[in-house]
Amino acid sequence: MAVIITDICISCDACLDECPTESIVDNDENPTGEDIYYVNPETCTECIGDNDAPACADACPTEGCIQWDNRDSAANPVRDGKTAGEPCVED
Ligand code: SF4
Ligand code: SF4
Repeated sequence: MAVIITDICISCDACLDECPTESIVDNDENPTGEDIYYVNPETCTECIGDNDAPACADACPTEGCIQWDNRDSAANPVRDGKTAGEPCVED
């Protein structure tokens, strides 16, 4: 699961250029057909390794618009099961 942009989005575009993985598209390019901005869950890293919080959420002027809950879980396949700050240890 990636971050989610909710329906209180005001379509200001502030998040688009902040995403290091270009995972955010506007409503015209939303593959689900919904009239809302969309985050590609296959490429969104939740900004692990880049920022303490998702860069899109930092840039968003609409409090609560961008939501996430998996920065400390293994649920994001992009992060391959690693958590923020976890050392890489070879077995
Ligand atoms: S959390 Fe980071 S990688 Fe994911 S959409 Fe936001 S800015 Fe892009
Ligand atoms: S910065 Fe927030 S309000 Fe603006 S387009 Fe992105 S999600 Fe929507």
